[in-house]
Amino acid sequence: MILLTEQQANDLITFVEDKLTTKSCNHKLTFAMQWAKKNKIDLEDFEDLMLEQGCGCDCEVVLNLPDEGDLELEEEKEKNEDNINPFKIPAIFVEDLSKLYDKALFTSDDLDYNIHTSPNEILIPAPYGYKPKKKMPRGDWFFISSISEMPNGLGFVKQIEPISAIEFSKKIRNSNIECLKDFSPRAASYYFSRIELQQIGNGMWCHFLERTGIGGFSADLKINKAVR
Ligand SMILES: [Zn+2]
Repeated sequence: MILLTEQQANDLITFVEDKLTTKSCNHKLTFAMQWAKKNKIDLEDFEDLMLEQGCGCDCEVVLNLPDEGDLELEEEKEKNEDNINPFKIPAIFVEDLSKLYDKALFTSDDLDYNIHTSPNEILIPAPYGYKPKKKMPRGDWFFISSISEMPNGLGFVKQIEPISAIEFSKKIRNSNIECLKDFSPRAASYYFSRIELQQIGNGMWCHFLERTGIGGFSADLKINKAVR
């Protein structure tokens, strides 16, 4: 959600600049808050945005607030990104939507590996930030059964009828599991690409590689062979 349009940001800068010609900065956001109140902008969000933009006081609003482009809260931006890429498919991954794949991950036939799931359920990585219906060990990420919606830590490679990422993702979305409703062809393609070179019967686990760098926070889904 855009908190300040470019027009509003410029309006704000002009307002504060004018005020500062009559009264010097008191190291607070006094005039900026006056403007926000007058313009009926949520004051809490407004203050957060100012701090994110390096504006801790009125003179910094004039100095630091970008006068080009609309402004939104970082927090909101991250949320939007989660909506666009809920499974955190790495940006560098190039999907092949026409290719047919013949392996997927399933719960084990061996009941020892099923805490909440039953044998032979298709497993899909749980989307980033998802809260499972049953508690999982802290720090471990997990798959979600497209049948029972239950979490499972390990998936096992099994043969399936050849299917494209587009068809497979549609099938998963149609399983009516709420957290898998945004499982896209691209997500399915990535999933298959991680599994296709594995031997039948191999166990796999998934996690997110989280980084904080120059571009801010990012997370990438990894699906790796489990070493037993
Ligand atoms: Zn100041």
